[in-house]
Amino acid sequence: MHFQPVFETKKRPIFIAGPCSAETEAQVLATAHALAAQQVDLFRAGIWKPRTRPGAFEGVGKPGLAWLKRVKAETGLRVTTEVANGQHVAEALKHGIDVLWIGARTTVNPFSVQELADALQGLDIPVLIKNPINADLKLWIGAIERIYQAGIRRIAVVHRGFSKYGEVKYRNVPLWQLPIELKIIFPELQIICDHSHICGNRELLHEVAQRALDLNFDGLMTEVHPSPDEAWSDAEQQVTPEQYQALMEDLIVRRPNATDKVLLHQLGDLRRQIDSLDEKIIELLSARMDVAEQIAGYKRENNIAIYQPERWREILENGLAKGSSLGLSEEFISLMMKAIHQESINHQATVMNDLEIMERSI
Ligand code: PEP
Ligand code: MN
Repeated sequence: MHFQPVFETKKRPIFIAGPCSAETEAQVLATAHALAAQQVDLFRAGIWKPRTRPGAFEGVGKPGLAWLKRVKAETGLRVTTEVANGQHVAEALKHGIDVLWIGARTTVNPFSVQELADALQGLDIPVLIKNPINADLKLWIGAIERIYQAGIRRIAVVHRGFSKYGEVKYRNVPLWQLPIELKIIFPELQIICDHSHICGNRELLHEVAQRALDLNFDGLMTEVHPSPDEAWSDAEQQVTPEQYQALMEDLIVRRPNATDKVLLHQLGDLRRQIDSLDEKIIELLSARMDVAEQIAGYKRENNIAIYQPERWREILENGLAKGSSLGLSEEFISLMMKAIHQESINHQATVMNDLEIMERSI
């Protein structure tokens, strides 16, 4: 797949800003004029709002599109809104919306994404695709593919975090490895971080935006409202245009690559150390699987089950204790140990079932 950029790549990150929802014409225009005076590339405002429970404000609908048209005419800003069905696409196009975005609750549903793709067939309009609400990279890729198959080439993606049960620091947890994996698969895809929906509150906005820039995201999407506390949706996470300006000015923009020779040399040395350590880790893992296979031999002779819950608990506890003493997070150790354990079970199952064992170098 070959994507074209939705935004001209500049020397600075891309900034998308505007209210969660268009509420009144005055609110939309006030926000847009304040943002037009700042470095903003695209003005956002939700016209049709997917709300978790009925009875909440579900957007102003069609009349809001005329307000966005006024924003364009008066400020010169390009505008974007969320579309969730074919009707939304038709209305948005009729009103000259420049960029469409697909929300997290829509990306999750292949029927809806296909309906959008059908409505977009043969058109040339940029589309932003938010991650699905659950941490399913394939579902995100599937949505990108459906829109691409409709002939849309200007596609960018938006990381807005993932749902999680229970109280956590974030409204939607930023599982950074997912957008990073996506970027590895599709290096040309521009990737934006919607820190407002990740955070769910104003206080965390800076921290998450800086993290996104440190990870070389192409830009940020931020909810901005003239009087955030009175917003009809997502009040806690919105900021005033002034707060937005201060927030953006505080960010440190990292360079995507090192260019000067001394720095490249220093990085080169460190990267060689990393490569050699990675090689050792893989050799050690292979040696560990050899031992697991020997154990499986004994288990087979004595007719003992492969999976021993007590032993697994002991291995995990040992790993967590060692990891914590060396400054490695519980989450990482537990993920790593589970992956190792699974691979070990697979190797043991091979021995148990008397299947051919791969030739190994060690
Ligand atoms: C939004 O951007 O206002 C929105 C509804 O976002 P999401 O689809 O990420 O929940
Ligand atoms: Mn919102």
